[in-house]
Amino acid sequence: MTAPVDHTLTHSPVQEYLDSLYERFLPLREGNVADYIPELALADPDAFGIALVTVDGHVYQAGDTRQPFTIQSISKALVYGLALEDNGVEAIAAKIGVEPSGDAFNSISLEDGSGRPLNPMINAGAIATTGLVHGTDGLDKVKRILDCFGRYVGHELDVNESVYASERDTGHRNRAIAHMLRNFDILSGDPQSALDVYFKQCAINVSCRDLAVAAATLANRGVNPITGVVALKRDFVGKVLSVMSTCGMYDYAGSWIYEVGLPAKSGVGGGIMAVLPGQLGLGVFSPPLDARGNSVRGIRVCKEISRDFDLHIFNTMRSAPAVIRAQYDGAQVRSKRIRSRDENEILNTKGTCIRIYELRGELSFGTTEIVAHDITQTMSDIAYLILDLRRVFSIDAAAGILLVRLCEKFAAGGKRVLLTHTDNKFELQRSLRRSLPREVAELATRFADRDLGLEWCEDQILAPHSTTPATAAKLSQNDIVIGFPPADLARLESLVGKRHYKAGEKIVSAGDPANDVFFIIRGVVSISLPVHRKDSTRLATMSAGMAFGESALIGDPRRTADVSAKTDVECYALPVDALNHTADPDLTRVRIRLIENLARGLTDKLRSANQEIRSLSQ
Ligand code: GLN
Repeated sequence: MTAPVDHTLTHSPVQEYLDSLYERFLPLREGNVADYIPELALADPDAFGIALVTVDGHVYQAGDTRQPFTIQSISKALVYGLALEDNGVEAIAAKIGVEPSGDAFNSISLEDGSGRPLNPMINAGAIATTGLVHGTDGLDKVKRILDCFGRYVGHELDVNESVYASERDTGHRNRAIAHMLRNFDILSGDPQSALDVYFKQCAINVSCRDLAVAAATLANRGVNPITGVVALKRDFVGKVLSVMSTCGMYDYAGSWIYEVGLPAKSGVGGGIMAVLPGQLGLGVFSPPLDARGNSVRGIRVCKEISRDFDLHIFNTMRSAPAVIRAQYDGAQVRSKRIRSRDENEILNTKGTCIRIYELRGELSFGTTEIVAHDITQTMSDIAYLILDLRRVFSIDAAAGILLVRLCEKFAAGGKRVLLTHTDNKFELQRSLRRSLPREVAELATRFADRDLGLEWCEDQILAPHSTTPATAAKLSQNDIVIGFPPADLARLESLVGKRHYKAGEKIVSAGDPANDVFFIIRGVVSISLPVHRKDSTRLATMSAGMAFGESALIGDPRRTADVSAKTDVECYALPVDALNHTADPDLTRVRIRLIENLARGLTDKLRSANQEIRSLSQ
């Protein structure tokens, strides 16, 4: 067996805790190694390992966590998942029940009348389950089972041939069970063949660490947290964990779930695998068993861990409430589109009807309800709702339903909802498209990010006021010359020259020498910061009547950002050399006036940046 390398976190409190558990329970010498399968009697009663793997793939282990032993009954849970994938829930339910039996694992008990085994965790149910695994023949079935287990543990596995042979030669009770199943047509074909696959699946070699990784895979909705490989389709994870909860520990299942509260499965090889859904998986290995066939140390260790950390599944915390990262309105925070003074005034009052929620983490019923509750309480004040999903990394079905309903409610009230950063959230996109009128769904998913969505909302509010001049042909219409006396304006006009740029053309690039100040006459420019080779961040978008590149006036030698024409652009360019290095007192006065206006503009920008920071840090 080749197992992956671990980077055990030796100084973690979790590691120290496992080490101390190992020390504490090593001297516990109760129980007996299984001997009804002769080969199992050879197991070392002192072998003992504990492993814990989180859904983030962190591995902690103490003791003999690499020693191979046979998986035995723990295989039943994993094969049940495979059979569900192969046949579907209904076909499996027709042949195997899900009721705890309260009987020993090897009891010869079937449901009256139907002959269905009570559940897939007792031998009768497990042999029936194995019979339902797809495969061209026994060999193929064993191969499919080995591959499946391999996905759970993250590496290739093999069958312990001597344990297999030992059980094949002595497993008369299981043989009786298989024939009984054949009698009731629960097994079809030769019962011997299903039995042979079953004996082999039980004899697969695993380690304690493997069990913990497999358990963590179940805790992680079927995805191996270390390899990222899907071992079991998400739809069936809950089914497997259910039968583990009610039947996984045989006639001890009730006390187990009551005391330990973790879905688990044990095997007579001495292994126990336990799952805390959404958090972690545990594997314990220690061959001496109690009278019911469960590992004595295994049970003690699980009890202890569950009690010390309060891991009982029915004692779970409320789900993370901090799903709302920030919440503000369109008067508090503006898009990166630079607006004229008049437009800013309008947004200062009317912008409050744009409401932005930045969400983060996992959207589930619990966390999304918090958002929906908050929004619906003040719904009457909102005309535009932006839900920024950039930091949301999962949206489950329940959250999807709530979001769709929210969109419906808003659309019905003539309001607009934008969900930004949905491009990688395929399931949400699908349900929005399925359930909402086309235009509503389209608008909801149109904007890649919050800033662009916010700009669109602002445009809607500003549209009826249309205060932006489409062109600012005269220099006097530019913000940066506000308050200039005619003589100074005339001087300035004599210095500037017209420039034209085609849509898409670069006007300045970061690093270029800063030679001119630009006054936009017509068109839209976008100022952005290159972040990666491909991406860039939008710093601002400007239009007619605005100036850019003004920092050249105060002697910045180089451009710090890219500016490009978003539409065809016409502007005046003012060469700064004419102003910066002059003895002419009139020109110096013009320069000072420009710098004063520049400072005023910067003060405004600083004020709104402060306000934005305040809104974001609430
Ligand atoms: N292979 C063993 C049997 O069928 C598995 C039993 C177990 O682990 N409880 O007897």
